Amino acid sequence: MASTPLTTHATDVEVAVIGTGFSGLGMAINLKQSGRDDFVVLEAADDLGGTWRDNHYPGCGCDVQSHLYSFSFEPNPNWSRLFAPQAEIWAYLRHCAEKYKVTGHIRYNNRVESAEWDEAGGFWHVRTNRGYWRAKSLVSGIGGLSRPSYPNIPGIENFRGKAFHSQQWDHDFDLTGKRVAVIGTGASAIQFVPQIAPEVAELQLFQRTPPWVVPKPDRAVTRLEQALFKRLPSAQLAVRNTLYWQLESRALAFVVQPRLMKLMERQARSHLRKQVPDRDLRKRLTPDYTLGCKRVLISDDYYPALTRDNVNLVTDGIREVREHSIITADGVEREVDAIIYGTGFAATDPIGPLKITGRDGADLRETFAETGTEAFLGTTVSGFPNLFLLMGPNTGLGHNSMVYMIESQIALVMDTLKAIDYEGLAAVDVKRASQDAYNRWVHEHTKEAVWNTGGCKSWYLDANGKNVTLWPGFTWDFRRRTRRFPARHFELLRAEDLAPAVVETQSADAA
Ligand code: NAP
Repeated sequence: MASTPLTTHATDVEVAVIGTGFSGLGMAINLKQSGRDDFVVLEAADDLGGTWRDNHYPGCGCDVQSHLYSFSFEPNPNWSRLFAPQAEIWAYLRHCAEKYKVTGHIRYNNRVESAEWDEAGGFWHVRTNRGYWRAKSLVSGIGGLSRPSYPNIPGIENFRGKAFHSQQWDHDFDLTGKRVAVIGTGASAIQFVPQIAPEVAELQLFQRTPPWVVPKPDRAVTRLEQALFKRLPSAQLAVRNTLYWQLESRALAFVVQPRLMKLMERQARSHLRKQVPDRDLRKRLTPDYTLGCKRVLISDDYYPALTRDNVNLVTDGIREVREHSIITADGVEREVDAIIYGTGFAATDPIGPLKITGRDGADLRETFAETGTEAFLGTTVSGFPNLFLLMGPNTGLGHNSMVYMIESQIALVMDTLKAIDYEGLAAVDVKRASQDAYNRWVHEHTKEAVWNTGGCKSWYLDANGKNVTLWPGFTWDFRRRTRRFPARHFELLRAEDLAPAVVETQSADAA
C-alpha cells in the first residue's frame, strides 16, 4: 500500500510523462492533439531533447535516414542531409514541442526519483527532486540510451589525465596535439574517431570486437528537393515510405533467415577492401561473427581515419589503466593525455535509476530481476497499473527507425487512455498470463534471429543471453498489435473499489 503523506503536497494530473526525447515529446504531442490538457512532462535537464540533446560529440548524427527518422505527423522538408547531424535533429524536436504547444507542460530540472502506486486512490505518486505529483497514468520516456556505461577496467579511477564518455563530451577540452585513447568501436566511436583523428597528435583506438561497417549512402538534400517537399508533401511521404520498406525488408535477414546476411557481409568486406589497403589492418578489422549480430554500422570515413599515420588500432585487451597510461594484455604501456569512453549505454535496463513500486508493494526492478526484463507489447507490466514504458523491453530495432516503434507504442497508450475514459475505469493492469504468453511468443521468435545465432556478444542480450531489447519481427506487425487497447488481456479496475470488473470490449489479438 502506498504511503500517503506525499498526497498532501502533490499536484494532481491525469497523465505524467517522464522525459522529452522522441518518446516523451511524441507522447505529449499526442495527448495535446487528442484534446487532453491535464498532463505534465517531467524533465531532469534544463532543456528538452533527450538523447539528441545529450549526445553532441563531434560527428554525432543519425544513422537512419532523417526523412524516416522523424515523426509521421511532422515531416521536415528542410533536412540538410539524408542523414541529418545531431544539431538539426535536436532543433527539429524543439520545433515540434513549440509547434504543437507542449512546452508549457514541461517542468525542467525535475528529475523523477520514484513512483509509487496508491492502490486505494488509483494514482501514481511521483516524486521528483523538486516535489510531488499525483498522476492517474504514468508514461516513462526515459529511453534505453540515456545512461552511459563505463568499462570495468582495473585502475580507471587512477587515471590523472582528462577522461570523459562520448555522451558527456567536453568541448572545452582542446584535443589538438594530445595523445588520445578511445575505448570502444561502436556506433558513437565510428562517428567521432574520423572527426578527432586529424586534430590529435596520436590516437590509440582500443577495439575489443570489430564492427561490421557498410557504406553510408549520405548526401546533401538539394534546394530543389527541399522546395519540392515543401510544396508537395506527398513527394516527401513517398520518399519516407520507400525508405521504410527498404529498411524493413532487412528484417527478413535479421529475424527470418540470417543466412541472407551473407549478401550484406559481401558488401561490407568489399567496403573494407576498398578503404583499407593494408592487409594486416584489414584482418584485424574483419569481424568473425555474422553481420547484424551487433548493430550494423554505416560510415564512409571511419576506415580511412584508421589508415592515418597518427592512428593506431589496438586489438590486445586492456589489462589496466594507470595514472598516465593504458597497459594491454601483452604488457605494452601506452602513455595518453586523455581517454574517451565510446563504451555505450546501459541499454538492457529500461528504468534506469527510477524506483517504481506497483501493487502490493512490488518493486519493478525486483520484478524484472525475477521474471526477466519483460513487458506486454513492450509497454505494460503486470502489477503496475496505468504505467507505460515507451521503448520498453523488446521494442528496440537493429534494422529500421525507432521513431516508428515509439509512435506505435504511443498509439497503444492513447487507445488505452481512451478505453479507461470510455469505460469509466480507474486503471488497467495487464494480466500476468497474457504477459507471459506474449513473452513466450517473443522469445520463441527471437531464437533464430541473428543476434541470438550470429556468434557475438552484444548489449542486445542480457547477462543470461536473453534478448531483452529487440523486437523480433517486422515493425508493421508490432504496429498492428499496438493499434488498439487489447482489453481482454487486462484486468479492468473500477474507481469505487479498484476491484476487477468484467467489461465486454472487442479487441485485436495481441499475441
Ligand atoms: P555500443 O554500440 O554499445 O559500443 C560500445 C563499444 O565499446 C563497443 O565497441 C564495445 O566493444 C566497447 N566496449 C565496451 N566495454 C568495453 C571494454 N571493457 N573494453 C573495451 N571495449 C569495450 O555503444 P555506442 O557506440 O555508444 O552506441 C550505442 C547505441 O547508440 C548504438 O548501438 C545505437 O543504437 C545508438 N547510436 C545511434 C546512433 C545513430 O546514429 N542513430 C549513433 C550513435 C549511437 P564490444 O563490441 O566488444 O562489446
